[in-house]
Amino acid sequence: MQKLLTGLKPTGEITLGNYIGAIVPMVELQEEYESYIFIADMHAITVNQDPMELKNRIRKFIALYIACGIDPNKNIIYLQSENEYIPAISWLLECTTYYGEASRMIQFKEKSKQNANFSVGLLTYPILMAADILYCDADLVPVGIDQKQHVELARDIASRFNKMYNETFKLPKPLIKEEGIKIKDLKNPTKKMSKSEANPNGVITLLDTKEQIIKKIMSATTDSEKVIKYDMENKPGISNLMNICVSLSNETIESLEKKFAKKSYQDFKKYVADVVVKKLEKIQKRYYELINSQELDAILDKGIEKTRQIAKEKYMEMTNKMGLTRK
Ligand code: ATP
Ligand code: MG
Repeated sequence: MQKLLTGLKPTGEITLGNYIGAIVPMVELQEEYESYIFIADMHAITVNQDPMELKNRIRKFIALYIACGIDPNKNIIYLQSENEYIPAISWLLECTTYYGEASRMIQFKEKSKQNANFSVGLLTYPILMAADILYCDADLVPVGIDQKQHVELARDIASRFNKMYNETFKLPKPLIKEEGIKIKDLKNPTKKMSKSEANPNGVITLLDTKEQIIKKIMSATTDSEKVIKYDMENKPGISNLMNICVSLSNETIESLEKKFAKKSYQDFKKYVADVVVKKLEKIQKRYYELINSQELDAILDKGIEKTRQIAKEKYMEMTNKMGLTRK
């Protein structure tokens, strides 16, 4: 079975858009691959974080992913920061990466322009990402187009290391995610729903209460027509609600258009709110069972034990080949 690796950066609250666009496809992929899924908390600190908030968010993130259907029996789930061999491997890789190569990364160029006081971590995080990928010999890394360059860098670093010190790493490939449906902001349906959006009224997060969900959907921006018809260009608000509904139920665009042919926007919104509430209630039930449980710790303990062993072996192989340590 091929190995697939996914890192989740714990920043912001997970939105319904993230769930539909990223988590559901990940749940589908777990049937086909041996998957390594980790919380990329070491990546989160390339920018300033509040320590207490970060600690809480890490736990929340992993509990939510499991509650959404990431199966701990099918996947290896762990926190990046608990595997101390990964940054150690990253250092060894940094020394086989050219400065020019790292500073050519598009994300670095863009993000370093936004803030003059950026950390060195912003430059080197793609090498940490290479360590994340290479230590476990991952075959595939599902990424959006914006991260493709980083997987290619990991490949280049691996290939160079293999040439310098003999075959050590498997060369990973990016698995480019198809552009799926983008869920839009409920208040501003021409813009995508995003966890960094300042106005919470247009964004549904996975832990919103039933009341909040109903309120947000009932007050979603629509249009002055009275027809429930899919037309992303002229009726983005209604079309977005249709997309949400179709993504979370067995409905199709056609079945919704038929079902609500003679109904009001209010009836339609009530129906969509009900679909979202039912879906999120299930996720939240599992989430609240997990969040403070020993079960969650047991899952993470099991994951870290396995990956630490794998990373330790790779680290020792690397240091040995590079002439470090006494062994
Ligand atoms: P930010 O505002 O910080 O960029 P975000 O909500 O856009 O946050 P990302 O961390 O950029 O989330 O993306 C995480 C994953 O969720 C990606 O795979 C991205 O394609 C997907 N995703 C994000 N927003 C949406 C959305 N509105 N609809 C569908 N998929 C989405
Ligand atoms: Mg984004």
